[in-house]
Amino acid sequence: MKITPLVLAPQLPLDGITSGIFPYLGGSVRADQLRSVVMAYESAVVPGRQGAKLAANVPGVLIDPAVYVPARAEPETLFDYDDWLKRQQAAGVPLILTDTPRIRNRDISALRKALARWDTIDEPTLVVLPIEPGWLREGLRDLIEEVRAAGRPVAVVLLHQYNGLDIKGAVSGLLTFIAAVRPLPVVLLRSDISAVGAVAHQAFAGFVGWSAHSRHGPLPMRRPEGDDERDESPSVLVPALNDYVKTSKLSVFARIRRPDVLRCDDRVCRGDSLLRIADLTETDLPDGRMLACLHNLASTEQLARRVLAAADPRDAWWETCHAGAGSIASLAGSGVSLPLRRWFRQWLELGSPAHDYRPVG
Ligand SMILES: [Zn+2]
Repeated sequence: MKITPLVLAPQLPLDGITSGIFPYLGGSVRADQLRSVVMAYESAVVPGRQGAKLAANVPGVLIDPAVYVPARAEPETLFDYDDWLKRQQAAGVPLILTDTPRIRNRDISALRKALARWDTIDEPTLVVLPIEPGWLREGLRDLIEEVRAAGRPVAVVLLHQYNGLDIKGAVSGLLTFIAAVRPLPVVLLRSDISAVGAVAHQAFAGFVGWSAHSRHGPLPMRRPEGDDERDESPSVLVPALNDYVKTSKLSVFARIRRPDVLRCDDRVCRGDSLLRIADLTETDLPDGRMLACLHNLASTEQLARRVLAAADPRDAWWETCHAGAGSIASLAGSGVSLPLRRWFRQWLELGSPAHDYRPVG
């Protein structure tokens, strides 16, 4: 996804990638799928060992060691070996991502250690910071100070059971951080569409996950006991709502005669209804999931192009959020009440240069 220049203030270049929005894929993506994603979107990140194997055969792909993922967590001592550095060098990645384990709230020494990782190598390197959301609130001052002192480009992964930006004050904390460390480039890794908002507010780039799992820094989910009927359907970005909805819930919009909510004009759907992804998911779950992923990439790109090409991307992002919230409010009149999620509300409340916050609905 190549983005037209949006530099409102000086920012250092980040060798290896251009500024903009890129896909973050799952490690189980097939090589031919990865190739076509890179053709379409210029670059992509793939996580873990499986990702590293794939990246070795597809130029332009970045590897996230993703050792912050609990299931993949390796013994602490491995942090001192350069296994992941060698693997990325062997794959010939355009930009090396560091192998940082989870950085807990207030653990300054873990943060410092992460910021010093591979600081003597010559290749372009991005320091991965898998932080708990407290770093964007009580820990914000320390985070800014340490990143400034290190003087290195960073990729933020927000660790949370669901979405780290749902925490009160997280969005404004993130934007304060981005502004305070400028001109150092800040990248959002493993994000949802909030990355578009962050890039509109001068983050260097965002890697947006193509599925729910790759959209957030995963922490173990607590499932309610007796939760047997887990909804296995994928979630899709619904452009009209500016939010993600599980495909199992989409038929309700047809039932209340609001097919307009389901229309998608991206390059995958071409004006078709998102219901076809829901239908496919019911007959063939793996194929339905893949189609959901491809739609999510295309739809995110469409959103990013529109927002980031605007005269002031911050206004365009806010207007997109406001329109989505308006649609969500209008559905309530038809008896469909969708929650206005906390991350979403924070973007609205932030306002933008041309818009003060106005309550929705
Ligand atoms: Zn679509």
